[in-house]
Order: sequence, then structure tokens, then C-alpha cells
Amino acid sequence: QPGGGRLRTLDQSSKLRNVLYEIRGAALEEATRLEADGHTILKLNTGNPATFGFEAPYQIVRDVIEAIPYAHGYSDSRGILPARRAIVSRYEQTPGFPAVDPDDVYLGNGVSELITMTMQALLDQGDEVLIPAPDYPLWTAMTSLSGGTPVHYLCDEQNGWQPDLEDIRAKITPQTKAIVVINPNNPTGAVYTRETLEGIAQIARENSLLVLSDEIYDRILFDGAVHLPMATVAPDLLVFTFNGLSKTYRVAGYRSGWLVITGPKDHAKGFLEGVQLLASTRLCANVPAQHAVLAALTGVQSIDALIAPDGRLHEQRDVAHDKLVSIPGITSVKPQGALYEFPRIDPEVHEIHDDKRFIYDLLVAEHILLVEGTGFNWPVPDHFRVVTLPEARVLSEAIERLGNFLSSYKQ
Ligand code: PLP
Repeated sequence: QPGGGRLRTLDQSSKLRNVLYEIRGAALEEATRLEADGHTILKLNTGNPATFGFEAPYQIVRDVIEAIPYAHGYSDSRGILPARRAIVSRYEQTPGFPAVDPDDVYLGNGVSELITMTMQALLDQGDEVLIPAPDYPLWTAMTSLSGGTPVHYLCDEQNGWQPDLEDIRAKITPQTKAIVVINPNNPTGAVYTRETLEGIAQIARENSLLVLSDEIYDRILFDGAVHLPMATVAPDLLVFTFNGLSKTYRVAGYRSGWLVITGPKDHAKGFLEGVQLLASTRLCANVPAQHAVLAALTGVQSIDALIAPDGRLHEQRDVAHDKLVSIPGITSVKPQGALYEFPRIDPEVHEIHDDKRFIYDLLVAEHILLVEGTGFNWPVPDHFRVVTLPEARVLSEAIERLGNFLSSYKQ
């Protein structure tokens, strides 16, 4: 008998050595254990609107239900044509966005799958990708999994968390292949200025970089902030724009996202064939969820009422911010978009050497689950992320308890 009847030890592959995803990490496991023991945990770790009482827009649900009896076959690998056409027309209505052909649109099982496919098609061992710090950590994780090297550029808290263009320039090497932009940003809630975006486009132009723009929060904006798609300031560059239904339409569980490719393509034929190959190997995205795209993009944009000055998301953002900055030793940039806030703990006031342990200790003591700043590839253990999806009353109480906990916390 091969192996003499003994079971061979199975370790995780070495490809996973640098793959981290703390949003659903060890602290969540502990939270689940506490819940099994009968405790109620306030989970502020994921941007999942459904768990905080946000309903799916009726029109979307209705269209998916109507499509189900006919949506049981595989679709085109890129996605069903009516959905891709709806995406094309969404961008036709976006001022300055370059022309898009339906064949340059890919539907995916969430933006997550499309990020994975893109990185797998693009990267070879040693290729470098510029990724913001802090970032949505899937970008770093998928760069590593695909054999690439994530190189983090700093976003400047003193400058409203705008990317630091000097730092980007300083980190370019002959191995740099692409730059990731997350705008509006998770976890900081920053919305980038035209000047920032044009600066990034110029750097990409000078160094022949592929631009990967994650714009999943582009319709979640506050205080009159305006979102400029990266493709509008870089029509002369190859830009991948990622977006989807998880946040703006609150149907994260449907796993419905899209990728739109704009700009010159001749120089990237091989890579684009790779993307198509990977789209084919996974056959297609979940077809019922593809039927949600048309209804979402052509129906009532109910997100507008939620972000209006008297809307729920706006109120929650305000309450979270006011409560956070009222805690001694905490400072924070007020988010202009997205569903998060990324406050700083002043190390002169509260000495925290290990932010992961801080999050764990908070969970055990207060039954509140946050994610530590280093989980977003922030280099120093002095930040954490709050999800601003719970109702204002719940957020307010939770942040008050966080403040009380911090006041006597020592490491
Ligand atoms: N990109 C960013 C910036 C996100 O915050 C998230 C989810 O939180 C995703 C991508 C993943 O989105 P999806 O649900 O479409 O996979």
C-alpha cells in the first residue's frame, strides 16, 4: 500500500504563504465561538448591507425570480448580452467615459472573482503591482497568490487619505506592471480628486502601467463629493474598471460584479486572451445573478435616497464620525464615500503594539468585532476600521463602548 497506510500530512500550499484576509480572520472565528456560547456579537467586520437590515431592491429580486426558470444553463463566458449592454449604456451616460464594446465587458461572481482572474492572467513570478496602503486586502492577497509582488504606496492621512504621488513614483521599478486604485476607498472612505487621478494617470503613462480601478463604491458619496472614473482621465491607457451590485444595490450575496476594459488593446493582446481564457475555464458567472444587473442599472437608483443628507447611510456616517472623534486619543478623517471609517489611535495616548490583539481583546470584552488596520496592509498598528452600516443608535452605543474600553486598555 503506498504510504504504508499512514495518511500524508496535508499542509496549505506555499502559494498561500503571503495571502491574508483578516476581515474574515481569527477574530471572526472567535466571534462565531462566542455566538455559539449564546453571546450576541456586533459584527462590524464586513461591508455586508443585508446583515444590517438593508433590503434588496424589489425590482431586482423580481427580475431574478422571473429569470430563474430560464437561467439554469451556462451563459456566454463574458456574461449574458442584455446585462453587458446595460453596463455599456451605464458608461455611455457617464461623462467622459471612453466608448465600451459589449465584448469588453465581463460579468463575474462579484468583483472578487474578476480581481482574481485579472491577477492570474497578468502576473508572473517577480512582477510588481502597486497597491494602496491601506487597501481592500483582496488586491494584495491575489497579487501574492498569482506569483506577483505587492508593493504598497502610501495614502496620506494628513491629506484626506489621497494617494501620495511622490511615494508612488519612488516605488516604481522595471518590474512594476500595474497600479491598483480603489476609489472611493475601502477602508478610508476617501474620494480622490481630479488632481490625484490625473497624477496617477500620468505616472501610469510614463511607466506603461496597466491601471486597475476598483470603483465598487462609486455611487456611495457624501457631502457633494464627485466620483471621477479613472478611465475618464486615462482614455489613452488600458484601464480595467471593476464594479458590481454588492454595495450600491445591497445584494452582496448574489455575487454579481463586472469588469469593463477601455483604452488601447493591441499591446496587451496576450494578456487579454489570458483573461478570456480564464473566463472560459470557469464557464460563466452565476446566471440568475447576471439577470439582476439589467434591473439594477435600469431601475430606480434607491441608493440616492440612502446617501442624501436625510438618508440612513448619511446619518450613520455622521454619527460614527462624531462619536469616534469624541474619544480621547482618536482622530479621524471624515469619509466622503463608501461604508467605512478608518480612525487613528494616538500612540502617545494609548500604547498599542499589536493591533490584532487589540481587536481580539475588544471582541472578548465588549462583543464588538472590528478589523485592525494592519489587516488592510497599513504598516503601523495604530488604526482600525469601522463599518458604518448598523443603525445610528447601534453605532453610537458600540463606539461609546469602544471608547470606554480604550480608556483603561493597556498592552
Ligand atoms: N472591492 C472592494 C473595494 C470591496 O470593498 C469589496 C467588498 O467589500 C470588493 C471589491 C468585493 O466585492 P464583491 O462583493 O463584488 O466581490
